[in-house]
This record gives sequence, C-alpha cells and structure tokens, in this order.
Amino acid sequence: MNALIVVAHPDDEVLGCGVAGAALADAGHRVHACFLAGHAEARGGLPSDNGLRADIDRAQSILGFGPPILGAFPNIKLNTVPHLDLVQFIERALLDTEADVVFTHHPADVNDDHLHTSRACQAAIRLFQRRPGVRRPRLYFAEVLSSTDWALPGGLPQFAPDTFIDATGLMDRKLDAMRAYRGVMRDPPHPRSEQVLRALAHFRGGQSGFNAAEAFQTAFCAGSVEEVFGG
Ligand SMILES: [Zn+2]
Repeated sequence: MNALIVVAHPDDEVLGCGVAGAALADAGHRVHACFLAGHAEARGGLPSDNGLRADIDRAQSILGFGPPILGAFPNIKLNTVPHLDLVQFIERALLDTEADVVFTHHPADVNDDHLHTSRACQAAIRLFQRRPGVRRPRLYFAEVLSSTDWALPGGLPQFAPDTFIDATGLMDRKLDAMRAYRGVMRDPPHPRSEQVLRALAHFRGGQSGFNAAEAFQTAFCAGSVEEVFGG
C-alpha cells in the first residue's frame, strides 16, 4: 500500500498522521508527505529554508517516511493561489506515489491554508474518474491540534472522527518527530504541547477502546469488500 499525506505545512503531517503514518511505514508500506507550502517563508521565529529542510528530513526519518514532496506555494496565502494549480500539484503527487490511501486536512480547520489544501485534495483524488488507469484512493481527514480544535461554530461541520488507529507504543515517536521541528512545540495549555498531544490521544483512545489513538474522518472509501473491510 502507498500512503500520501497531503498537508499545507511541515509539521502538519506529524500532528495529523504521525501515528498512522509510522504504523504504515513499520508494516512495510510506502509513506510520503506532500507539503504545499514547503518553504520557510512567514514561519515566524522558525528556521530558514535550509534549517526547515533539515527539520523536515529529520521528522520523516523518525517516522519512517520516504522523501517528501515539497511545494513552493506561499505560506499562509494559499487562498491567493488558483485552485487549479493546487489540484494539479496534488494530482502529480498522487501519480508519482501511486497512492492508495490519502490523508489531508479537515476543511473546517481554522487555518485557511488547511481549508484550501483540503478542497484541492478532494478534487485531486477524483483523478481516477477523469483519467483511465489511475488508482482509486481512499481519503481521510486528519485532526491537527491548534487548527482542527480551534474551529469555531458557524462554518462547515466540524471534525467527526469515525476511524481510529491504535497509538499505543507510538506516541513517543510522534512527539520526537514533532520536536524535530524547532520552534513548533509550546508549553501547555497550548495544543502543540506534549501534555495536550498525549491528552488528545488518550481521549481518542477512550472513544475507540485503545490506551491511545489517532483519529480520522472518512471522506471517501470505495472498493471491493476485501479492500474496504479487510480480509
Ligand atoms: Zn498547518
């Protein structure tokens, strides 16, 4: 299986999919992160491009991911990029990685880059219906603390998880990968703190019968009974 994690910013892949991605990689599957805003521009107080690239590579290594796909779209300004440009960039990543499962942002996230990434990804995964021979991927929305949890009522329906991955034994790696990104982790009660990241994992575990879990919302899942239900 090939997994593609399509996110706006470096570190979103860890916050949203650090556990699921590491578990897939450990099981022998190929996992790649695709960052639409892969450069350091407007990352206040954080490392320069070279430093950010080193942080990205360290985080991917900790999680067992393959080489990342780095977009050069403007950070915190994805709303200024034509939707088609984002869609075509993601389509290229889908083809290059032959993705079977795709993770992206929930469209109700408070971060506007996440919304535009999610919308473009929803359009891009329909490539199989526009081009014969392209794989039909599953699509899941991930939960990114300090964005998904900061959404306010009045917009789109909020994150409603229906898929849970056992995070027991994997939270230390997720936290190590987060710490690979210098200047990103905060002290509690900020959501990007060890305390809150662990608390969310235990809460999601309580919803799903695990000591700890990482949660997702199914956006698209189609296939044979074996593909969908396992076997
Ligand atoms: Zn982000």
